[in-house]
Amino acid sequence: MAKKPAHKRKARTSGKSSIRTRLIEAAKAAQKNAYCPYSRYPVGAAVITDSGRVFTGCNVENASFGLAICAERVAIFKAVSHGEKAIRALCVAAKSAKPCGACRQVIIEFAPKDAEIIYVDWNPMAKKHKVTFTKAGKLLPQAFNPSEAGL
Ligand SMILES: [Zn+2]
Repeated sequence: MAKKPAHKRKARTSGKSSIRTRLIEAAKAAQKNAYCPYSRYPVGAAVITDSGRVFTGCNVENASFGLAICAERVAIFKAVSHGEKAIRALCVAAKSAKPCGACRQVIIEFAPKDAEIIYVDWNPMAKKHKVTFTKAGKLLPQAFNPSEAGL
């Protein structure tokens, strides 16, 4: 039997504080690899999947601006391309770490509503960060919902 799609499952939440620490450090480390010569706005992201694997991403820009991709989608697509289909938690690290609308739609495709989303407002120069927690279900009110669409 096929696994339920993410939007129909519940996130596993055991070991929450160590997962948070691991994701925050992974996202901050990934931020250092950002390729952002145009915006000069580095972003890092990290996800942990249901199987416990961590995947990271950074924003990757292009001279043809529309080809840029956000750190969150890089991390999620890396996880999916390695056979993972369920995000247990996601962390974004940037000066002001909030996912864009496109990333929010991608997050809810793979993360159940109760999956933890962590924002790390992080300034590497000042070495200060502010951490905020929310849930995937709060990211995109009235989002396109695959269940409602019969998908
Ligand atoms: Zn985005």
